[in-house]
Amino acid sequence: MRMSQLYAPTLREVPAEAELRSHQFMLRAGLMRKSTAGVYTYLPLGYRVLQKVKDIVRDEMNKADGQEVLLPILQPAELWQESGRWSDYGDEMFRVKDRHKRDFCLGPTHEEIITALVRSDVRSYKQLPIRLYQVQNKYRDEIRPRFGVIRGREFVMKDLYSFDRDEAGCDESYQAMYEAYKEIFRRCGLDARPVEADSGAIGGDTTHEFMVLSDSGEALIVHCPACGYAANVEKAPCTPPAAAEAETGPAEKVHTPNVGTIDEVCAFLDVQPHQCIKTVIYLADDKPIAALVRGDHTLNELKLQKELGCSQLVMAASRTIEEVTGAAVGFAGPLGLSIPVIADHAAAAAQDAVVGANETDYHSRHVSIERDAQLWRTADLRQCQKGDACPSCGEPLATARGTEVGQVFKLGTKYSEPLGATFLDENGKELPLVMGCYGIGVSRTVAAVIEQHSDADGICWPVSVAPYHVSIVPVSYKDDQQRKTAEELYTSLQNLGIEVVLDDRLERPGVKFKDADLIGFPFRITIGPKSLAEHKVELVERATKAVELVDIALVGSVLQERIKS
Ligand SMILES: [Zn+2]
Repeated sequence: MRMSQLYAPTLREVPAEAELRSHQFMLRAGLMRKSTAGVYTYLPLGYRVLQKVKDIVRDEMNKADGQEVLLPILQPAELWQESGRWSDYGDEMFRVKDRHKRDFCLGPTHEEIITALVRSDVRSYKQLPIRLYQVQNKYRDEIRPRFGVIRGREFVMKDLYSFDRDEAGCDESYQAMYEAYKEIFRRCGLDARPVEADSGAIGGDTTHEFMVLSDSGEALIVHCPACGYAANVEKAPCTPPAAAEAETGPAEKVHTPNVGTIDEVCAFLDVQPHQCIKTVIYLADDKPIAALVRGDHTLNELKLQKELGCSQLVMAASRTIEEVTGAAVGFAGPLGLSIPVIADHAAAAAQDAVVGANETDYHSRHVSIERDAQLWRTADLRQCQKGDACPSCGEPLATARGTEVGQVFKLGTKYSEPLGATFLDENGKELPLVMGCYGIGVSRTVAAVIEQHSDADGICWPVSVAPYHVSIVPVSYKDDQQRKTAEELYTSLQNLGIEVVLDDRLERPGVKFKDADLIGFPFRITIGPKSLAEHKVELVERATKAVELVDIALVGSVLQERIKS
């Protein structure tokens, strides 16, 4: 490709809306342009990278016995009503009507469609296992699209669905995908780490996310430097405190005028946050409950919702709080409440605690939660944090930020049962298919590669996903000898199967070098008068900026070698 013809409008300035490095460089290097919030057009360079990631994904899926299909984006509401997710999915689903006023959605995911497909064609255990996948656009109406393609409303995903006859078969499919994912991310040049995760709206019990660690990642994970355990903070279990503190004297009420927040309470009563117990009032399927966590801990709503087994959990509005506690917001406490009180293990173990007194402007201190409060139950309700004991080996956990690039789920019969996707076993017995689903954010993976492979000047593509391997930059394309050498090299490298861009623009060398660095071709060949006099060119490696002089006659074989390794 000739730079003079390449549709790659690069930008010198950092676009104001782009917070993340990957987002900035995808716009600046001319890989993509925003169409509307959370929706992007891939330009030629960006599309080449996307295709290379897709190729790697397809290759590994095929090796793992996946067969590619293409499922529809437009999906009828009936299928989603059968699975119960038409109402559960909420506002994230793009819903449309046809001319007959029938409801459809733009697929946010494809469990329903694929299950309906398989239920109509699969009859016998002899047809199993089946692993079908697609690479397809997905649609989610994010409340706040941001970070470019990392949180878009339209994005490219690979999703594979496995259908097995039993748990053991499903385990095998899961393991095969888990291994394939590690290989895919390795081949894309990513340091991605599988972490235990929460299954969220997709459902099922076992699930891992593949996280690319970077300071700008949107997810927080905890990991154990000692044993390698890693999990999303939302999922990581917290171990209850080992020993209870010493009990203190009886609880006493204290006047705390206008002292509502944990910080205010700490300052006013000269106590530490871990001695304060937060009482949060929720509506669980419209019934009020109170949840207790220590002031230095964060309540994890996913854990609470799971513990309660409710389908909807929302924080109560001030009016409900006032009704339930008889006090203004900020003075709720567990003593004497008439609604169920559920406490996190650490809060339940607190012996000399400060709690709201359920009376405006009053707190109670020297409270022993288990002694003084009528607890309905205790459970693991808090978010894991830095320094907590590793659930696997007990050593202190560290935290890191990451971007999720893939997730694997064991679904079991969550979809096959309601949708009636069954098969007949050897004895003619009808059984539900045991399913797994496995997603990779393909467009996200491109952004994640940039997060891990870039510097102040631009992107440093790993060869495997680079839009082109090499750019040839003559210092002056007007110069006869430089132009002739550049054109000859351009042809000979192409003949060797090397993907090459020739910068034939009549620009200053600085402009051409800046663009090459910004776009991030792994190698650059600079043709200048000095080296040319010795029949040599400069070979520059983008990632390290290492420069070497190479004989013109040898450039092709040197590059072939580097690209291969
Ligand atoms: Zn550990």
